Amino acid sequence: MQWKDLKARLLAAGTVQLTGEPADQYIARSAAGPGAGGIGSVFFAMGSHRVKLALSPLSSIEIAHRGNGTADLFFEGQRIYGHLLEPGFHCPDQAFITVTGSCIFSCKYCSVPRIGGKRKSIAEIREMVESVHDRIHAISITSGVLTSIEEEEAYVLEVVKNLSSCNLPIGVSIYPTATTPDRLKERGVAEVKFNLEAATPELFSRMCPGLDYGLLWQVLDRSVHLFGKNRVFSNVIIGLGETDAELETCIKNLTSHGVIPVLRPLNPVAALAGTPRPSAERLKKIFAIHKRALAAAGLDPRQAMTMCSNCAGCDLVPGRDA
Ligand code: SF4
Repeated sequence: MQWKDLKARLLAAGTVQLTGEPADQYIARSAAGPGAGGIGSVFFAMGSHRVKLALSPLSSIEIAHRGNGTADLFFEGQRIYGHLLEPGFHCPDQAFITVTGSCIFSCKYCSVPRIGGKRKSIAEIREMVESVHDRIHAISITSGVLTSIEEEEAYVLEVVKNLSSCNLPIGVSIYPTATTPDRLKERGVAEVKFNLEAATPELFSRMCPGLDYGLLWQVLDRSVHLFGKNRVFSNVIIGLGETDAELETCIKNLTSHGVIPVLRPLNPVAALAGTPRPSAERLKKIFAIHKRALAAAGLDPRQAMTMCSNCAGCDLVPGRDA
């Protein structure tokens, strides 16, 4: 089975049970992204390819850890040899840190408001980065919203200021104000990700009450102007109820504006628990559309230095997975 087909099927399933030797050092416990607040996830790799799967003792897919990271994946009667990747923070090779683990908004697909985590102090974040500095190549920062969008932005700017002396590229993904791109650029941030989340404005207003789709487009355009080609990203979730045609239009709009879409299969949690995950066939169909749109716009996710396009654990990424 080709890697792209295997990864599409694994992402459609979403979970794995972990057996064999103790594997604590390989388990990522996330405060953001798919699997946030769950019992943890693992990164299974074959050569330079990787996939992140949430741990579930009920999963029909098994990864048996043989020791020192060597692992066998048992999937649909096949045994696939690979290895587990050790996360820095949240994902391999990066310190990807959630600054504030709670949120005043209540987007329907997001479990962060329910987790109700605390805000990390700047000293705590600095200590986290230093503890993995020898095995990461980037720092990525995301955050919920503790009291207001403006206050969160100001705090994240202080975090970035403190981390700039680590001499690693920094990527930031927060809910923005109109001036967030300019302020992040002034602080030396290398890449930004502002998430449209939904393929259409109608779906966005249903999924993210109180947030502004038009502002996100405005901020993405300003970001491309400031940060340049292959440095601006936007998550769009596959499986919120959009059609393939709506998703294709959204993908082409983003790429024609110079933004790399990060197409994230729905992880049905929070208010969307019970919603079906997108099928492997749909993921592959969208992947082909994504690949063509990126090529037509001259964009390349392999150039990403930080965040999800660099990690490639949770999505099919053109250039990385084909
Ligand atoms: S792809 Fe993004 S959300 Fe998924 S593990 Fe990697 S950095 Fe985290």
